[in-house]
Amino acid sequence: MATPAPTAMIRTQVDLPLRFADGYATDARVFTFDGLVDGREHLAFALGDRTAPCQARGRRTAPLIRPHSECLTGDVFGSQRCDCGPQLREAVERIADAGGYLLYLRQEGRGIGLYSKLEAYALQDTGVDTYEANVALGHGEDERSYVAAAQMLHALGASRVALLSNNPDKARQLRGWGVSVVEQVPTGVHVSDANIRYLETKVRRGEHALDLALVTSRTR
Ligand SMILES: [Zn+2]
Repeated sequence: MATPAPTAMIRTQVDLPLRFADGYATDARVFTFDGLVDGREHLAFALGDRTAPCQARGRRTAPLIRPHSECLTGDVFGSQRCDCGPQLREAVERIADAGGYLLYLRQEGRGIGLYSKLEAYALQDTGVDTYEANVALGHGEDERSYVAAAQMLHALGASRVALLSNNPDKARQLRGWGVSVVEQVPTGVHVSDANIRYLETKVRRGEHALDLALVTSRTR
């Protein structure tokens, strides 16, 4: 049953040329919002030609979107404990190719915050998995909400989307907030020695549709 997400409005928009550490560059238009229910400063990056998404290929008829949850350690510092950095880099290029939006959501550590995430890492070093560690710290296994993501999509006029994600909870929640997910597009798998246990746990506990046998070559 879909509940309409509360209305948010575009607050400002500005061009932002992007260049990544590996030299990949693309132009983005970044949007901020008024009225997001959690009061956080989430961003939407419009990438590629989102007015005519993939029509040249005659396939996708809705913009490709990805809600990416902030991961300071992975996104900025290249931490090998997770796959967030390569996931973000892949998403930007694939969305720029297809036309759509990357939603950068300020919900670190599956919603528990940066300090708690690092405490959960310390616990994981004693043998518990990433979900058990969150629970041991008094948090839910995954506290992320995608209501703000839905609000942003509605404000952008993108209420019908192709979703770039392996996480069934994102599709479930977005649909619940009135976003029509017409297609779910899997991301690549970015495995390293340091994150293999984390990825296996996401598959086992989080129902992520990752095929760990299909290791892509995108990992550094
Ligand atoms: Zn991460």
